[in-house]
Amino acid sequence: MLQYFMARNNMEENVMKTKNYMKQFIDTYYDRHQNLDKQPVIELINDQTFNELSDTVILEEGRSLPELLSIIEEKVYANRLILEHPRNFAFIPAPVEDVSRLGDMINTFYNPNACGWYASSGTACIEHALINWLCEQAGYTKNASGIIVSGGSMANLTAAITARDTKIQPDQIAKGVVYISNQAHHSINKSLHIIGIPDDRIRYINTDDNLKIIPDDLDKKIINDKRDGLIPFLVIATAGSTNAGVIDPLHEIALIADKHDLWFHIDGAFGASLLLSGEHKHLVNRINSADSITWDAHKWLFQTYSCAMLLVKNRSTLLHSFSDNAEYLADAQKADHTDFWDLGIELSHPARGMKLWLTLQNLGTKQIAQKIDFGVYTAEYTQQVICNFNHWQIVTPAQTAIINFRYYHKDLSAEILNDINSLLSEKIVASGYAQIMTTKINGATTLRMCTTSPKTTHQDIDQTISKLNDFLNEVL
Ligand SMILES: *Cc1c(COP(=O)(O)O)cnc(C)c1O
Repeated sequence: MLQYFMARNNMEENVMKTKNYMKQFIDTYYDRHQNLDKQPVIELINDQTFNELSDTVILEEGRSLPELLSIIEEKVYANRLILEHPRNFAFIPAPVEDVSRLGDMINTFYNPNACGWYASSGTACIEHALINWLCEQAGYTKNASGIIVSGGSMANLTAAITARDTKIQPDQIAKGVVYISNQAHHSINKSLHIIGIPDDRIRYINTDDNLKIIPDDLDKKIINDKRDGLIPFLVIATAGSTNAGVIDPLHEIALIADKHDLWFHIDGAFGASLLLSGEHKHLVNRINSADSITWDAHKWLFQTYSCAMLLVKNRSTLLHSFSDNAEYLADAQKADHTDFWDLGIELSHPARGMKLWLTLQNLGTKQIAQKIDFGVYTAEYTQQVICNFNHWQIVTPAQTAIINFRYYHKDLSAEILNDINSLLSEKIVASGYAQIMTTKINGATTLRMCTTSPKTTHQDIDQTISKLNDFLNEVL
């Protein structure tokens, strides 16, 4: 113990040292990320580094910060997919605004517990105001509310729980049926399993040639299930599917949900950001017909992980599911003081809304709108470039900043075509120049590009397609 008390005297000195490392780190980070477009989009850890890192044991006497920082910089974070790289077109890219990074950092320093009002009234005030503003943007009225969560998966889960608790009695869950499309994100299936809906009570609504839900088929399936004594209680549509950027016919689905008294959830993890666009807002203007909306800020609102929202039309539905404190139900006046633990699953958590608030306040709505519109425009530009070559076939047109295309030749079998397109993806990924992955659309392997980065240039697109053309010659 005595030794410990003596060592404590050095604490001040250690704080100063750590502080200097922090300052140095920021410089190092920005030095490394200058000219991002000249760097490979992805580095995968090699076997040697993997073993080295795995074998870095925790020592009794610890290790010095310079040693650890060099390990972290050179060997850990160097091996990653740079999701904000201007030529990362895979998954949903994460083009981060530096001001979000700053907001995240500040929040980490203050480290408030954003679970409730008393523990962090300042951030609670901002987060309530932010949620209200986002609800307004979605076209919700004053009964609406929401919760800031770690991601789209968490938002979808929170929505599924709320839908179940609102629409179905606990002893009837074994009869509950949910309707989704085959384009729904896999986090939806996971959420449904968690709330007690197994695969045999998940119905896949047919989609049309554009991969959109066919409302009549939804209606038919609901009627069938009711006739069989089951209890349909939830339909989930997507605003901006991960595969192809497709937006389901939201209004028509809402009418059917309403007719059969189903909860209507819209997974807008990717596409809800169009609400803040300039020229593409109309694509999602019926999003307010949903009972709940998932919206990721770490996808197309330029935030660092993790930051997403679940918005609900009726605040009382969240309280019903997540508050043990029935008084809140009567106490609508104090909406802005509600503890977040009464609106969602988590207790202790960071104030994830602060960086988003900082970004929106700093950039302003005009610049945000331009940045989102630019992503849609870049996908359209990509389509134009692709269309200059006869061998490329557009599988799903540029929409919501996603485009799917493939090499096609009428004399080749489906199997060979799939193999060729897979090879093209492998080759461009291995080159490090750009990241383009494949997906399946109606069984066909396609090259999928998601172009949300505001930093992507025409030249990035031209060169990427040109490289694909070169690889195609090699493969053929
Ligand atoms: C990415 C995505 C999700 C999952 O979001 P996370 O933030 O990764 O948990 C859910 N739905 C859709 C449509 C998505 O694109």
